[in-house]
Amino acid sequence: MSSTAGQVIKCRAAVSWEAGKPLVIEEVEVAPPKAMEVRLKILYTSLCHTDVYFWEAKGQTPVFPRIFGHEAGGIVESVGEGVTDLAPGDHVLPIFTGECRECAHCKSEESNMCDLLRINTDRGVMISDGQSRFSINGKPIYHFLGTSTFSEYTVLHVGCVAKINPAAPLDKVCVISCGISTGYGATVNVARPPKGSTVAVFGLGAVGLAAAEGARASGASRIIGVDLNPKRFEEAKKFGVTEFVNPADHKKPVQEVLVEMTNGGVDRSVECTGNINAMISAFECVHDGWGVAVLVGVPHKDAEFKTHPVNFLNERTLKGTFFGNYKPRTDIPGVVEKYMNKELELEKFITHSVPFSEINKAFDLMLKGESLRCIIRMDG
Ligand code: NAD
Ligand code: ZN
Repeated sequence: MSSTAGQVIKCRAAVSWEAGKPLVIEEVEVAPPKAMEVRLKILYTSLCHTDVYFWEAKGQTPVFPRIFGHEAGGIVESVGEGVTDLAPGDHVLPIFTGECRECAHCKSEESNMCDLLRINTDRGVMISDGQSRFSINGKPIYHFLGTSTFSEYTVLHVGCVAKINPAAPLDKVCVISCGISTGYGATVNVARPPKGSTVAVFGLGAVGLAAAEGARASGASRIIGVDLNPKRFEEAKKFGVTEFVNPADHKKPVQEVLVEMTNGGVDRSVECTGNINAMISAFECVHDGWGVAVLVGVPHKDAEFKTHPVNFLNERTLKGTFFGNYKPRTDIPGVVEKYMNKELELEKFITHSVPFSEINKAFDLMLKGESLRCIIRMDG
């Protein structure tokens, strides 16, 4: 056990005091892990658009003060009572949705929606006792997605921690902890395009480009990227995207443009924007008879999906997924091995890097649509 085990650790964390206001680096106290919990030292974290939505809190429930961050890589510092499959020094990825290994979902091959640890965006406390492990002068600071990786140390439920190959570089594989697994898995595990298919990807951020990688790995013959940001098109060529559509360039709805381009519709579509209209377009652009659309983007809390029921009667399928249907503890070590075996490239998703002291720059880059993934180095 490390010398800090069982003790409160004082360290730096980027605290979000108010919606939409720059994060402030503060000294926080991080309590030791309780039963079935693990305390991690975070070495690298990155920014996903989901952090930005909940920080802006425009279409989401405001929970403040809060420590955001869920895409990261780190090392186990200490473990709580009852934790047997992780030990100090293990290299790990924190995951925003967990795997208890005991519930009906964890036992099902079809689901990763663990009853105990499934994503809960509005909870700011630990499951076991309803308390936060973070505080400043005795005042609690809330958790986010059970991960809160914008802190040098953080406490997670053991079921939200994937143990990975210690030889894997954490400054690269940290992006597997959310965005890349989500997009890649949405295609290979959920949309499952047959070889030779035409696949449309809505939203060419890191999640959408990982979905495009999944389409390429599945042998898709056409991959059509849809985005409102034309800066994304050049970059997307590196991810196998073969054609581009900017909805802003057309008078008619983008689903009609895609249906015309593909002689009746695409075989599969994967939506990675979070925009409700893009979600509807992603469904309505699939071919009747066999088309499958997969929703990945996190919607506004009041969003409603409207489409004519005949679109379903005409044998189109609509699905959705969190984390690309991967089970965090069972499947993620294998995704890391795909990177180690050079079957999955991560470097091209990482467009920027900043020291922790400049974390607000990562938010600016994402809001301006300039970055795919910006790595935040916790030692800086
Ligand atoms: P990002 O901001 O890097 O990329 C989103 C892209 O969508 C941008 O390029 C933007 O220009 C484009 N876009 C926005 N509205 C559009 C529209 N109406 N039509 C076409 N393109 C549009 O974000 P990201 O980090 O890649 O995340 C993408 C989405 O996936 C977000 O909604 C995020 O919350 C969600 N997400 C979901 C899961 C999950 O498990 N389901 C996990 C991670 C992220
Ligand atoms: Zn994410």
